[in-house]
Amino acid sequence: MVLDKLGDKFKEILSKIARSIFVDDKLINELIKEIQRALLTADVNVNLVSELTKSIKERALKEKTKLDQRTHLINIVYEELTKFLGDEKSELEIVKKNPFKIMMVGVYGSGKTTSIAKIANYYKKRGYKIATLGLDVHRPAAIDQLEQLCNKIKVDCFTNRKEKNPIKIYNEFKDKYIKYDLLIIDTAGRDSLDKELVKEIKELNQEIKPDEKILVISADIGQAAQELAKCFHENCGVTSVIVSKLDGTARAGGALTGTAATGAKIKFIGTGEKIDDLETFNPKGFVSRLLGMGDLESLLEKAKEVIDEEKVGDIKERLTSGEFNLNDLYEQMIAMKKMGPLNKIMEMIPGFSGLKLPKDALQVQEGKLKRWGYIIDSCTKKERNDPELIDSKRAERIAKGSGTTVSEVRELLKQYRMAKKMMKMMKGKDPEKMLKKGRIPFGLN
Ligand code: GDP
Ligand code: MG
Repeated sequence: MVLDKLGDKFKEILSKIARSIFVDDKLINELIKEIQRALLTADVNVNLVSELTKSIKERALKEKTKLDQRTHLINIVYEELTKFLGDEKSELEIVKKNPFKIMMVGVYGSGKTTSIAKIANYYKKRGYKIATLGLDVHRPAAIDQLEQLCNKIKVDCFTNRKEKNPIKIYNEFKDKYIKYDLLIIDTAGRDSLDKELVKEIKELNQEIKPDEKILVISADIGQAAQELAKCFHENCGVTSVIVSKLDGTARAGGALTGTAATGAKIKFIGTGEKIDDLETFNPKGFVSRLLGMGDLESLLEKAKEVIDEEKVGDIKERLTSGEFNLNDLYEQMIAMKKMGPLNKIMEMIPGFSGLKLPKDALQVQEGKLKRWGYIIDSCTKKERNDPELIDSKRAERIAKGSGTTVSEVRELLKQYRMAKKMMKMMKGKDPEKMLKKGRIPFGLN
C-alpha cells in the first residue's frame, strides 16, 4: 500500500470516530486537528489543508442526517478527501488515429522512461499495437534503457543514436508510425526545468502535436510538484499526469494534490520499479484504501452492536442529573461486560481517552454479574426504581426468588449506593474533571 503512514494515521483517526460514543464539537475539533497534522506530514500544501478541513468541519457541524452520526462523519471525511484528489476517475482516452501520440515530459529521473514501458505494457495487454520513440538524445544510456525495456515487453522502439536533433529523429520514422495504434514518445529531462529543456519541449510540441502530453512527476519531490507542473503546463499544455514512485515516500501528498492547478488529471500512479507497478488512478478507490474503509465498516458494525446510542445518551443524562436506579446500574454493568475493560470504554468516549485509570477499575466478575442480574430480575419495578425500599424482609424475598443469598442482595445494594454516591458527586459536573481527580463515577468494584 502506498502512503502507509498517512493511511495508518487516517485509520487511527477514523476508528476513533467509529468508537466514539458521542459526536460533539470537541470530537470534531480534535479530528480536524489530527487530519491537518496527518496531511501536513504528507507534505500537502498548507492552504489546501486548511480549505479541506474547513469544509469537513462545516459539513460536520451543519449537516443533518438520518445516518448514525459516526457513520455520517466518516462519510464526510471520505467524500471530502475524494473530492480533494480529483473526485471522479478519469482515464486516458485513446482515439483511433494511426497513431494516437503520447508525449512524456518531466525532469530528469522523474520516471518517464520507466512509465513509458509500464503504459506500453498496459495498453498492449488491452490489444493496442504500440511503438515507442526515444527522443532523449543527450544521454546514450537513456536510449539503451528504453530499448531494453521495450525488448522485455516486446514493443517496437525507434531510436537513432547518431542524431542529436530530436525533431529530425521524429521525422525520420514518420512513415513507420502509421502501422501503430499508439506511439509513446520519450523526451529528455534535465536536473530541473531549465531554458534549454523548455525550448526543446516547446518545439517538439509544435512539431509532433501530441494527442496527450503526460507529465511524469515523482512523488518524492513533494510540494515542488506544484511549481513544476505549472511550468510544464505553460510550455506544452499538460493534459494528464502520472505520479511515480508513490511506493517510496511518505510525502506524496504534495504531488498528488499539487498538480490539480493545471487542470490535468492524474491518470496513473507508479508504485514500484517493475513494469507491472502501475495503477490507474481512482480517487475513490485510493481514498477508500487509504482510510481502510473495509476495516472501518466492520468496526462501525461492531460499535453499533455494543453501543445503543440512544441508551448511552440516556445514561449520560442520568449520570449528569444525579438520577440513578438499579436498572441503570445493571445496564452499565452489562455494557461494560460487553465492551471490555474500562480503559477500552474510556477510549471510546471523546475527552476520556488518554486518562490513566486504576487497572481493572470496573471489572465485575462474570459469575457475579449473572447473579446480580437474577437479583434485579426478582425485584419489583418499584424496588428497582428505588432500591432503598429493600429492607431485610424484602431482601430475603428477593434472595429466595432469585436463587441467591441475602448477603449477595446486600452486596448489590452496597454497590448501588456507592455508584449512586458517585453519581451525585458528578451531578452537573464535567465527567472528565472528576476522572482527573481520581473519582471514578461508576464505582462498581
Ligand atoms: P526518467 O529520467 O524520467 O526517464 O526516469 P527513469 O524512468 O529512468 O526512472 C528513474 C529511476 O526511478 C529509475 O531507477 C526507476 O527504476 C525509478 N522509478 C521509476 N518509477 C518508479 C516507481 O514508480 N517506483 C519506484 N520505486 N521507482 C521508480
Ligand atoms: Mg528517461
